[in-house]
Amino acid sequence: MDAGRVAFLAVAFLTHGAVGYALVRAFTDVDPAVGFVLGIVPDADFLFPAAWGMPFVHRGITHTLLFVVAVVAVTSPWRSPRRIGPASALAVGSHLVIDSGSAMGVAWLFPLGIRASGDLPVHGPAGTLALWGLSVGLLVWSGE
Ligand SMILES: [Zn+2]
Repeated sequence: MDAGRVAFLAVAFLTHGAVGYALVRAFTDVDPAVGFVLGIVPDADFLFPAAWGMPFVHRGITHTLLFVVAVVAVTSPWRSPRRIGPASALAVGSHLVIDSGSAMGVAWLFPLGIRASGDLPVHGPAGTLALWGLSVGLLVWSGE
């Protein structure tokens, strides 16, 4: 993988993490580090071997409503003394919302073949700046 691609992915991961951090910080009492980590988790699909194929591809199973529900179930209040479930939904959900704005989109309703997509440069310079601005705005608004 070339250095430009690595830099692009690093910025995209950090941006997803920043949005998750800010949302969890602004709207829950959970450690915002949870939001940072879970905001990036859907992109763990980059680690899937290419031979596995659909749905274990980039923007496959980890970018679906089913995955959001699974993460919330694993981190749900009855499994944790802290109320992490809603924070999990915010962080993972924000990742899917952001990716839904891109041309590639997200198959929220997998296994249905419907993809939500836009034509927004969500991972381009303007989109990245907008998402960081939103994140900083949320932190300022929430008193960070
Ligand atoms: Zn993603």
